[in-house]
Amino acid sequence: MILERILPFAKSLLKKAVTPGDTVVDATLGNGYDTVFLAELVGEHGKVYGFDVQQEAIDATIERLNQHNLRNRVTIFHNGHEKVIDRIPVSEHGSITGAIFNLGYLPGGDKTIVTHSETTIAAIEQLLAIMAPEGMIVLVIYHGHEQGAIERDALMQYCLKLDQKTAHVLQYQFINQQNNPPFIIAIEKKLN
Ligand code: SAH
Repeated sequence: MILERILPFAKSLLKKAVTPGDTVVDATLGNGYDTVFLAELVGEHGKVYGFDVQQEAIDATIERLNQHNLRNRVTIFHNGHEKVIDRIPVSEHGSITGAIFNLGYLPGGDKTIVTHSETTIAAIEQLLAIMAPEGMIVLVIYHGHEQGAIERDALMQYCLKLDQKTAHVLQYQFINQQNNPPFIIAIEKKLN
């Protein structure tokens, strides 16, 4: 297959927006795969801020970062991403160039703990306010479970209404696949 699959495409978008030394946000640590990717992307002078509401996800992420010797590039908050503006120091605000949300539930974890549109949207709004121009927010939307479909609908409504003076909004989705595979919404903050 030549078309890029969903998760590689999410990474490609972030690679375009983020350069070594930048500050980025992993809005949902999960099992920490994206956290490792982001920590490598920002390099030794960059910084990753990570959020998750579950200790299990935080433990898994710390273990994975330690395996890759990347723990010192990542600040982890045991908090919802809706606290992003409070938790990330003001001095860093203008230098955030990328953020990723891997939505839904923790694979192998408690399926009742899921992301919800209200808090996801609150975090997106905060990020749009504080990110650098041309900063990239990538949402990977898992809509194969009941709450995921509800979150998808609310996020689509929100994204469709985002002012084109504020952001470029892209949807990347395979439309003929079964079982509701994840898809991407990318939000690029405009220059002015
Ligand atoms: N569905 C993805 C993984 C998603 S993991 C996949 O299959 O690969 C989603 C993570 O978001 C979970 O670890 C969960 O604890 C976390 N989460 C839920 N609500 C959150 C919030 N408000 N802020 C930050 N993380 C949250």
